[in-house]
Amino acid sequence: MTPLVNVNLQRLNTLAVPSVAANFVRATSITDLRDALAWAQQRQMSVHLLGGGSNVLLPERIDGLVLQPALRGVEVLEEQGDTLLVRSAAGENWHRFVQFCTAKKYYGLENLSLIPGLVGAAPIQNIGAYGVELCDVFDHLQALNRSTGEVEVFDKNKCEFDYRESVFKQRLRNQYIVVSVTFRLSRTPQIHDHYPAIKQELLGLKRSAITPEVIAHTVMELRRRKLPSPDQIPNVGSFFKNPIISVESFEKIREMYPDVAAYDVASNQKKIAAGWLIEKAGWKGRTEFGVKVHEQQALVLTNPNRGPAKQVLMLAKAIQSNIKARFDIELEQEPQFIE
Ligand SMILES: Cc1cc2nc3c(=O)[nH]c(=O)nc-3n(C[C@H](O)[C@H](O)[C@H](O)COP(=O)(O)OP(=O)(O)OC[C@H]3O[C@@H](n4cnc5c(N)ncnc54)[C@H](O)[C@@H]3O)c2cc1C
Repeated sequence: MTPLVNVNLQRLNTLAVPSVAANFVRATSITDLRDALAWAQQRQMSVHLLGGGSNVLLPERIDGLVLQPALRGVEVLEEQGDTLLVRSAAGENWHRFVQFCTAKKYYGLENLSLIPGLVGAAPIQNIGAYGVELCDVFDHLQALNRSTGEVEVFDKNKCEFDYRESVFKQRLRNQYIVVSVTFRLSRTPQIHDHYPAIKQELLGLKRSAITPEVIAHTVMELRRRKLPSPDQIPNVGSFFKNPIISVESFEKIREMYPDVAAYDVASNQKKIAAGWLIEKAGWKGRTEFGVKVHEQQALVLTNPNRGPAKQVLMLAKAIQSNIKARFDIELEQEPQFIE
């Protein structure tokens, strides 16, 4: 195993920031992963994991080793009645995996169609969209312990999933490499059409006409319409998490803006749309430091000039401090900064 040197990562991150990895390995097996970790350890080098690069901010130079888990393969592990356990290796493309399952009538993943990235990164932030989160269909994952080199199994409890969170972003940050993820899917159609945008799209359709395939198609249509494709306009999807605030804070905002919307997350907490806050603060469509707040979706920062991550961070910080001053709400950044 010999790492590639001075690898240009601009095409390997969807924000298209210029970045060079001093050393780069694309690992297609667990042996490759172990060899790469040993190689870096011998040189006392830091190791940074990169999947599809759709949720990261990369610096202009990464001096250590950038390691891309690229293991491939999908298999049905078990089938009992209507339920199937389907395992995907970490390096499979997420959307292609969803399409594969939907075509085979292994249902449960349809609402998560068209999310960029690789399967191995999906549990890291418990990806979610249109009313479904990865944890709703998750069974277990296998992850390589970076210190011992052993493969360990994590069930749902051990992953400590939460809204755009897991143990791998918190307590066990940078300690494991996900090598496979196993989903509990069903041959019986699972319809999740409660999300307002989906409901709206399906108005007028008979209940019996709403199949998982229709849901997948609707989600893809909505995403294509509302979100800029990174191939055309570099971006990392939502740049901020939707903040969870107290009912009191929400009521204060509602006094000023009666049209504010929020979802209940607990008896005394609400989740409010970060995009709404950013839009109300007047940022939608604005360009600063060469970085643009998308004109259709204020939660998405775009990098049309393919400038460095520090410029994106400057705009993000300006938005964060403005939202804090205006609504007394802290916006938390969603993409991970790799140092
Ligand atoms: C247009 C667009 C739309 C998006 N829409 C959504 C959405 O609807 N919902 C949503 O949740 N997200 C969304 N995202 C964010 C992103 O697609 C997901 O977070 C995705 O799971 C990231 O996968 P990736 O392979 O690109 O990971 P990367 O961006 O490469 O990495 C993300 C993090 O995971 C770590 N990582 C990567 N692979 C592994 C591994 N095998 N083991 C351990 N750690 C690893 C990295 O070190 C990094 O910290 C969107 C992004 C874009 C560009």
